[in-house]
Amino acid sequence: MQPIREEIGVIIKSAQEIAVMRKAGQILAVVIEALSKAVRPGITTGELDTVAARELKKRGAVASFKGYRGFPASICTSVNEEVVHGIPGARVLKSGDIISLDVGALVNGFHADAAVTLGIGSISEDAQKLIAATKGALEAGIAAARNGARLGDVSAAIQEYAESRNFAVVREYVGHGIGRNLHEDPQVPNFGIAGEGILLRKGMTLALEPMLNAGLWRTRLSDNKWTVFTADGKLSAHFEHTIAITDSTPEILTML
Ligand code: MG
Repeated sequence: MQPIREEIGVIIKSAQEIAVMRKAGQILAVVIEALSKAVRPGITTGELDTVAARELKKRGAVASFKGYRGFPASICTSVNEEVVHGIPGARVLKSGDIISLDVGALVNGFHADAAVTLGIGSISEDAQKLIAATKGALEAGIAAARNGARLGDVSAAIQEYAESRNFAVVREYVGHGIGRNLHEDPQVPNFGIAGEGILLRKGMTLALEPMLNAGLWRTRLSDNKWTVFTADGKLSAHFEHTIAITDSTPEILTML
């Protein structure tokens, strides 16, 4: 008999542990709301990082990303053709840009992770469609994340939603389990085959995070070794929630 090898490393959380993650997630949702209000033409990505650091600290949370593998800021700010892991700094946002804000919060030993993509001022219809499709792809993935379903059901739901709207799904970066560690097993690709992969069970906590490109799915890494760009220079969007698998519909821990 073969062991169920693919489930090694997947940590089932207790109700108490999920309650702590819920607290982290609720703080995160409030912080993202504050960031959404701060986003406007003329603000720098560095100023957004300052807002996030202040709002997390005020609520007793630690920024999960700061110092993670040497990441230098509290949040990731990825503008236009930047896919993920953009480093906040002197860049000034202007009307027509889109920005992905990715934030992690550590509270009482547990992490929550979430991201949104927002338009600055007035954005193109194509950018609006990309953002709506990425948000919709996340919602489709969450809807498929049921106790007894397979991980591939989630991946396939996201991919199908994105590709049926003519957007490409990034392959090199994926969602993940989350808990005491920011990144735990299993990896959650945004592409896959329904019915395949590990069984989802109550108490699993996952960060689902589709990254959709307006052009091709390929990416390239910046010289700074962090910022990921679309290879073709076209727009990219990113949404993320931390969820808990339950007996019925998944609980979105990072939503108010
Ligand atoms: Mg994540």
